[in-house]
Amino acid sequence: RRHAAATLSIRSEISYVMIKPDGVQRGLVGEIIGRFERKGFKLVALKLFQCPKDIAEEHYKDLSSKPFFGALVEYILSGPVVCMVWEGAGVVKSARKLIGATNPLEAEPGTIRGDLAVQVGRNVVHGSDSAENGERETALWFGKDALVSWEPALAPWLIESN
Ligand code: UDP
Ligand code: MG
Repeated sequence: RRHAAATLSIRSEISYVMIKPDGVQRGLVGEIIGRFERKGFKLVALKLFQCPKDIAEEHYKDLSSKPFFGALVEYILSGPVVCMVWEGAGVVKSARKLIGATNPLEAEPGTIRGDLAVQVGRNVVHGSDSAENGERETALWFGKDALVSWEPALAPWLIESN
């Protein structure tokens, strides 16, 4: 009963997190996934994926008028990406903090970009900027019913349920 309650209490928000092609090519997949695991969020979807152009363009459609849009889409298509969905109360904002500022030179040490990248055009990871975009991006990259429902054995050690 405690266990079920703990699971319910984190079933509130999802973030779409993606390791970009530079992160995959540089062998940073385990390092990056490990940071989200250790934080205590719950992994509910995961795949290695060679992205088609229409998905990359849709994902970044809000940036389509920017001068870097073409290069950005090319970057995302330049090799496989790792697509993930992480779930938990506050996961959207927290994932953005773990990832760090868009420009890696401004990202704090201790963040993924602050520790592992030097340039905005090769900033190794994406994280949704709102709960609404977490839902939208998850639907775009995984489809509607792709999330796995499971009970992490450690949930009661991460989340107090009362
Ligand atoms: N980007 C870029 N040049 C810029 C700004 C952004 O190449 O001047 C790329 C970068 O890969 C960034 C992505 O576009 O991660 C999306 O930009 P956004 O402002 O949404 O940053 P994010 O949410 O990824 O921190
Ligand atoms: Mg963004």
